[in-house]
Amino acid sequence: MRQQILEALRQEEPFDVLIIGGGATGCGIAVDAATRGLKVALVDRNDFVGGTSCRSTKLVHGGVRYLEAAIKHLDKVQYKLVKEGLHERGAFLRNAPHLAHRLALVSPIYSWFELPYVFIGLKLYDILSGSMNIGKSTIASKKGVLKYFPSLRTEGLKGGVIYYDGQFNDTRMAMTLLLTAREHGAVLANYVGVVGLIHDANGKLTGASVEDRLSGDTFVVRAKTVINATGPFADAICKMDDPEAKPILKGASGVHIILDRDKLPLDVGLLIPKTDDGRVLFLLPWLDHIIVGTTDDPCEISERPEASPKDVAYLLDYVRRYFHADVTEKDVKAAWCGIRPLVFDPKAKDTAELAREHVIIEAKSGLITISGGKWTIYRLMAEHTVDRAVAVGKLRPPRGCVTHDMRLVGARGFVPEGDKLLAKKANLPDDVAAHLYHTYGDQSEKLLPLIAESGAARLHPRHPFLEAEVRHAVREEQAVHAEDVVVRRMTLALLDTEAAVQSVDRVVAIMAEELGWDAARQAEEATRARTHAAAGL
Ligand SMILES: Cc1cc2nc3c(=O)[nH]c(=O)nc-3n(C[C@H](O)[C@H](O)[C@H](O)COP(=O)(O)OP(=O)(O)OC[C@H]3O[C@@H](n4cnc5c(N)ncnc54)[C@H](O)[C@@H]3O)c2cc1C
Repeated sequence: MRQQILEALRQEEPFDVLIIGGGATGCGIAVDAATRGLKVALVDRNDFVGGTSCRSTKLVHGGVRYLEAAIKHLDKVQYKLVKEGLHERGAFLRNAPHLAHRLALVSPIYSWFELPYVFIGLKLYDILSGSMNIGKSTIASKKGVLKYFPSLRTEGLKGGVIYYDGQFNDTRMAMTLLLTAREHGAVLANYVGVVGLIHDANGKLTGASVEDRLSGDTFVVRAKTVINATGPFADAICKMDDPEAKPILKGASGVHIILDRDKLPLDVGLLIPKTDDGRVLFLLPWLDHIIVGTTDDPCEISERPEASPKDVAYLLDYVRRYFHADVTEKDVKAAWCGIRPLVFDPKAKDTAELAREHVIIEAKSGLITISGGKWTIYRLMAEHTVDRAVAVGKLRPPRGCVTHDMRLVGARGFVPEGDKLLAKKANLPDDVAAHLYHTYGDQSEKLLPLIAESGAARLHPRHPFLEAEVRHAVREEQAVHAEDVVVRRMTLALLDTEAAVQSVDRVVAIMAEELGWDAARQAEEATRARTHAAAGL
């Protein structure tokens, strides 16, 4: 498949749109442009969704913390962001129900004075979501809160407010978007990086010089419009276009840790509304584990950011402050760091204050840069960006944007009890069927012949991931390195580092059968996958 993709990229006839970057932003744009009937190419210098987009808190949300800013400072921009986010939250849950679901969260209250303030704020959250409302916020007594969190510390606890947001699987969401774009003819290539931009005699962009990072070959991809969707790396692409371009981004690193459910059994999320340094922290149930995050610190932008011991200690400290939980560094099953691409505002004092708004900037050459925003509004960001590309490139798509009401690949035949039906049909254990259905949705059926061929062997006894999925990732989802499977197609490394490292040899052996790797390549792949899995990269 990879050779055909590379050949398609080299074609003489220009693409309507070349997207640089295969994170949330680029994948969303690929779907929007391809479903309008445009000829689309997308390249990522690493694996798809290997950047910030696989390290999110996995919330589909309007942003309660932006709501606080909207109320406190009567800030219209923040208010609009929340409203937009809540609307898109609804569309997200509807269009990818196999990957996204409603999640109840509790904001604990420690003073009676706070209660009406928080409750009215969250009621406003409900109202702003309008017809896309996913559940009414309610007040819970102290006893009610403790029912959800028996080990929550009770000193000063008065009660809480229960509200709803969405939760999703970010790596799989990106994969679903890519499969949807591919279904509509988009040419998508991972490990193909843009190393230069190509201009005509008038300074207008006509394409990009790219490098196939597997072979080292460089070649040109011709395109009528080029979209820079490289997240934290947007400034670097702008500089390729115009060496005088001014930076537009600041980076803020966010670290998450994963804990075993046995250490902290939660079925609903807890929002810690204010840490000592003014941040919001979440503790959320996630794939049978608990996710705790996130930090938010100004940082240098780097390709593979790592969680520092200081960040891990900070998050553990908050878990212990709020819960009677005996958790230490040795209970951390995985830790990973992502970099928020925040649009630069010279007046903002710290990164937590920068607006999470997205901006679309058009350079003189026609380069369109999309930056900022968040996963929740990927669809809206894509719509705005493709509208701009259509205008800049004078493109004539056969139709306008169709994504608002479009179910993504895996979602079309989705039924809520699909996991139970799958378990019965394929005689699978419940956890495996639930995992498959909430990973591939109605496409789970595609794995059944593979499971019939090689059995439903698990990659690791602690997890429901199957060996058959490794073959599926190679054949259907463009996995080229073992790391792609262990970290992103399966998210095992982001959940349980030890299990991921222990699974590497088996993943490499299966991929070697699929791709004909020799012994040297297998050794190289195993080392690379172990290193990246261990560091949550
Ligand atoms: C800690 C954290 C938690 C978050 N939590 C949430 C949340 O709960 N909900 C939510 O809605 N949002 C959340 N966000 C925001 C959201 O994750 C980001 O807005 C989003 O993932 C950004 O996606 P992106 O595609 O712009 O960037 P990225 O995902 O970083 O993608 C950019 C891609 O560009 C590629 N690239 C770079 N240079 C080149 C080149 N020269 N050639 C080719 N490719 C290149 C990179 O390899 C990368 O894959 C969170 C962000 C962080 C950091």
